[in-house]
Amino acid sequence: MAKYIFVTGGVTSSLGKGIIAASLAKLLQARGLRVTIQKFDPYINVDPGTLNPYEHGECYVTEDGAETDLDLGHYERFLSIYTSQANNVTTGRIYQTVINKEREGAYLGKTVQVIPHITDEIKRRMLLLGKNKEFDIIVTEIGGTVGDIESLPFIEAVRQLQWEMPEEDCVVIHLTLIPYLRAAKELKTKPTQHSVKLLSQEGVHPDVIVCRTEEALSPEIRRKIALFCNVKLEAVIEAADAPTIYEVPLTMMREKLDLICLRKMNITQYGEPELGKWKEFLDKLKYPKSKVTIGLIGKYIELQDAYKSILEAFVHAGAMNECKVQIVNVHSEFITDDNVDEKLSNLDGLLVAPGFGHRGVEGKIIAVKYAREHNLPFFGICLGMQMAVIEFARNVLGLKDAHSTEMDAETKNPVIDLMEEQKKVTAKGGTMRLGAYPCSIVENSLAHKIYNSTLITERHRHRWEFNNAYLPQFEGAGMVASGKNPESGLVEIIELQSHPFFIGVQYHPELKSTVERPQPVFVHFIKAAKEFAESRAALKNPVLQGEMI
Ligand code: GLN
Repeated sequence: MAKYIFVTGGVTSSLGKGIIAASLAKLLQARGLRVTIQKFDPYINVDPGTLNPYEHGECYVTEDGAETDLDLGHYERFLSIYTSQANNVTTGRIYQTVINKEREGAYLGKTVQVIPHITDEIKRRMLLLGKNKEFDIIVTEIGGTVGDIESLPFIEAVRQLQWEMPEEDCVVIHLTLIPYLRAAKELKTKPTQHSVKLLSQEGVHPDVIVCRTEEALSPEIRRKIALFCNVKLEAVIEAADAPTIYEVPLTMMREKLDLICLRKMNITQYGEPELGKWKEFLDKLKYPKSKVTIGLIGKYIELQDAYKSILEAFVHAGAMNECKVQIVNVHSEFITDDNVDEKLSNLDGLLVAPGFGHRGVEGKIIAVKYAREHNLPFFGICLGMQMAVIEFARNVLGLKDAHSTEMDAETKNPVIDLMEEQKKVTAKGGTMRLGAYPCSIVENSLAHKIYNSTLITERHRHRWEFNNAYLPQFEGAGMVASGKNPESGLVEIIELQSHPFFIGVQYHPELKSTVERPQPVFVHFIKAAKEFAESRAALKNPVLQGEMI
């Protein structure tokens, strides 16, 4: 049977539970164990698919088309494994299952209650991934903060599992904050003591305390935490602020978090951590040889979590190119014909982001036009690709009112439109084109050069599609469909033949970028941006270029 590590959080949210969980899982994986991670979220939405990005950041989509919490993105980026619907469960999904069973009469006349029915369903889901002997260890992150009303049934389920399982099959980690009071120049342990007390009142006693801190923990502070929280001294782990999340596995290794868990689980068969590729990536990330500035054109830019996977894919692709990628956020709502030059002229590449609804789309279209006309490397993702299609239709094909029916249902030229099966859809949750779909790639295209393959799969999350009735007109004028779904013929990739790097993809390539497998479109886009920056520098400084030759 698989062993379980539960990660709970205390004191405050946003302590980086997902990163700690992913870092621990990475270390265990690097020691040769088979590991996966799952997350239980206490909110009542059945999944985060219907949540506004401002509420909960990006919605991460898995291969099997589940709309999940953005922490699953961290899990995949750290571990280079695929997660699935089973890896992310919310209170809403638990209640939905229990209520459906009640309607079927499955409870045989019993009163349906939080304990045992809700907690039984939570436990069933928690144990699901461990059933088929695929994994040695399952790290389970409990969303929310201890003490929240919403997280009580999850903590109760952990309590019951801790009681039911053999002692060595279960580890509980509590992540907490040790605040530094600047005026007193002191680290304070009281919030942690209270948080552990709260967790203990709920019946769960942690084996390990991971302390987020801005300052190093002195031996006295460590002793105090160990004593008052009733854990062994070596089980007090310092998690100091790191310059990048990708350092955290190494800091956790230095603190021996993995060894403490292995000891508690009585696992004796493991190797030295194999982190060669990881360290190579970190070196390249820390010591870049060049720099590019990329404009991220979006409408949720106030909240960086809304574009989490895109930003991380740039980190991976930058390291691969030994190049620092500086992101400049450009709010699409405020781009106009008059200010576009001033806003975009210092960039080495332009990424037009995914999105929903009409706010900010005209600014995105103006930005695409700028990139097309100035040979600026362009990369459009999902809505970004759709905007590139609309821009081309309006300004090259002369279809002045071209639009997507998402924004203008009455347009005479619906170059982006709904497919028949989407027209029948009325419910919003889980009904988009979701998850992995194959895409065949035209030989000798830019996409072919990027992927070095004629058949790929990428993940989708959208309703609207390129309208194939217009394809001959587009291709005749130089915007070609270089990637199509082999069964349905839906256009998945468009590119401009006359431009050095102009690509739009209907799917979300950012979702498959990991530290060890940077996503190829991002890698090539950064390469093109580097070349653009170099040629611009050469133009600005011809003498210097002459001397170098
Ligand atoms: N709103 C567009 C659609 O549904 C694009 C979605 C996206 O960018 N993820 O097709």
